[in-house]
Amino acid sequence: MSVGLATVLPMLTSEAEEQLCRRLTTAALRAAVAWSRRSSEPGAWRELSRMTGVVSYVLGPGRGPSTPLELVDRLGKPLSGLFPGDFAVPDELADLVLLNSSESLTDRAIEVGCEYTEALFGEVEDPARAWLPTWAWQRAEQVQRSVFEELISAGDEHAYTATRRFLIENPAGDESTLVQRMNAAGARRVARYDPVAPDRVWPGVANQWWWPCPVRRWPMRIKDEFVECGYSHHEARFRVDAGAGSRSAPRLLKLTSAKLRVPAAQSADRARCLDLAVWRFVTVPGVPELTLERRLLRIDGVSVDMWPGLDRVDLTVSTTGGRRWEVDVKDRSEPSSIAADPPAARDIVVPDYRRGQVNPLRRMLPDKRVWTVTGFVRHVRKRTGGVA
Ligand SMILES: [Zn+2]
Repeated sequence: MSVGLATVLPMLTSEAEEQLCRRLTTAALRAAVAWSRRSSEPGAWRELSRMTGVVSYVLGPGRGPSTPLELVDRLGKPLSGLFPGDFAVPDELADLVLLNSSESLTDRAIEVGCEYTEALFGEVEDPARAWLPTWAWQRAEQVQRSVFEELISAGDEHAYTATRRFLIENPAGDESTLVQRMNAAGARRVARYDPVAPDRVWPGVANQWWWPCPVRRWPMRIKDEFVECGYSHHEARFRVDAGAGSRSAPRLLKLTSAKLRVPAAQSADRARCLDLAVWRFVTVPGVPELTLERRLLRIDGVSVDMWPGLDRVDLTVSTTGGRRWEVDVKDRSEPSSIAADPPAARDIVVPDYRRGQVNPLRRMLPDKRVWTVTGFVRHVRKRTGGVA
């Protein structure tokens, strides 16, 4: 194998464990994508055999599934079954199921699985590169780097910040509105916007419709009369109101108790949305960054600089009194993956829905300070003399 995949089982240091997790998860995810596309993609079966080979190589002889169909069978069950029995599989991976009963990729496969993807082959020789979606074979950092490459090499900090903010705030919309907003924001065209996928379009009589997730504004999946965002932490689940007239825009009814705005239907004609990899690796992690910025700017005397020095850190926060913080925001499912690649900033902030990660991260990164968004905002407010 051209990449020199090592059989890592005999040397279970934590680095080797991390490697085993990443390789097994990537191979399983690639196999799941291949299986879900086997009727339309001529290279899918070859990819499936190749990934069966990678899994057996990583696990060692006789320990993994021996045929592609055996591997596919495991992909419809919790991923822990693919790991060696004595291996401490991270919780989020242990119960992760990659293929659903209709043999398509689950939403959690994308939400969680792609945090573990890595390049199994050198870029040029990856045989499935032409058709496999980038999130299944590139690491998050590679996707981000290729999106912003030109702006970074031009050293254009203003365009970089404007473009990054644009991709977070406008992951989907009407084509001409997107272009207008991009120009108004001084953002550059660095990523592809595609038509909304058929499983996210509601087939009306006179018009077709889609709904943006109220949190991250990307088209929600539609199944029968149910509409939901695949990102579990958003708790965005709705039902189409069947009582509405068939010619007017259909309305949604909220099915969860989460505090969410109910989005209005948007016409699918000329609608576009960001490529999934860019949405997942730029928009999704960017939302808590902008939430933190917005909440900090409500405090008198506080200013915020986003992604200073072309993303040296996520934010710098300054007060008129001369206090200053450098902050990195991390929205990952596993704290150990944050600790394995520690952020540059001294202060690390996680979204409020990841408050359970604060104490483990404090233990893993003793020289950092770890906060939730709300905790950090309160800290800054206290330091500026405001009421906490
Ligand atoms: Zn969402």
